[in-house]
Amino acid sequence: MNKYNIANLPTKIYKLENFSKEMNANVWIKRDDQTGSEVSGNKIRKLEYLVQDAISKGYDTLITCGGIQSNHCRATVATATLYGLKSAVLLRISDTPPVVGNYFIDKLLGADVKFCTREEYSNSRGQIMEEMAKEYEKQGHKAYIIPEGASNAIGTLGYYNCMNEILEQEKEMGIKFDTIVVATGSGGTYAGLYVANEVMNLGKRIIGMAVCDNTEYFTEIAHNIGTEALQYIPEHKDKSLDKSHIEINDKYVGIGYALSRPEELEFIKKFARQECVILDQVYTGKAMYGLYNELQPNGNINNAGNILFIHTGGLYGLFTISQDFPL
Ligand SMILES: *Cc1c(COP(=O)(O)O)cnc(C)c1O
Repeated sequence: MNKYNIANLPTKIYKLENFSKEMNANVWIKRDDQTGSEVSGNKIRKLEYLVQDAISKGYDTLITCGGIQSNHCRATVATATLYGLKSAVLLRISDTPPVVGNYFIDKLLGADVKFCTREEYSNSRGQIMEEMAKEYEKQGHKAYIIPEGASNAIGTLGYYNCMNEILEQEKEMGIKFDTIVVATGSGGTYAGLYVANEVMNLGKRIIGMAVCDNTEYFTEIAHNIGTEALQYIPEHKDKSLDKSHIEINDKYVGIGYALSRPEELEFIKKFARQECVILDQVYTGKAMYGLYNELQPNGNINNAGNILFIHTGGLYGLFTISQDFPL
């Protein structure tokens, strides 16, 4: 499957010296938050494949959905804008949202915005996006629908490809990463890494830190998306994936998606001052806080060898809580 080259790749990998020392562990970071600025974060790796697919099939509009501060929606709008396509986002809200963060960028780049309630989003977002697509068709456009988080079989190739990038970097750096830790929100990032680990028999331990839902949910999602993705990887299409290798940790969801506990924000502050790496409160803050806890003497990521944490982005969302942040 072809892709467009949009992201700044390969993203940098380096050791978190101070954190490693404190935790008595060997932890590296891969800066997928630095894939770009308008297109920053993990979603752009998935969108590189999806936009190629859309344009090659003659679509001129991208439609997707997410929460009001969705990094994925913003990256989709940016991708569409880069290629001269129209974009529309279906955003889940509870109150009238302030025009800040990712939502501000959606508007700045000229996306069409449609709001829906929490209930509408969970029960019928697919249907609503279909209706939006029909409206565009009436106006002579052809709209390509991208699911939440770009987490489908084609999107997940972005992280299959990222694993190949990591293998190249391992060679260059003369190191092998035994364990990979990544935030998990819609499952596509995890699924891509999982497929690569399975079909290439890499034997890495890949831990998805859930930021919503639970272990059972993401295990199903990752296995299903992963299995579907095999059809796009001709050299491995007959391989099978061992679901028992999926490891999703749901102990750090906290009080719910995009909701923060004081200890999580305190950790983001501590980590920023320790490593000069800014984590976000929705995804990477919870994932790194999870890693921090599991590296404690009674945790379950002890003796995990060389650990690679993938920083998947989210900075724009952090700025939306700056007034309430415990500095
Ligand atoms: C979407 C997102 C994730 C989660 O990736 P999924 O593929 O949806 O599981 C992690 N971090 C950030 C910053 C994201 O925007």
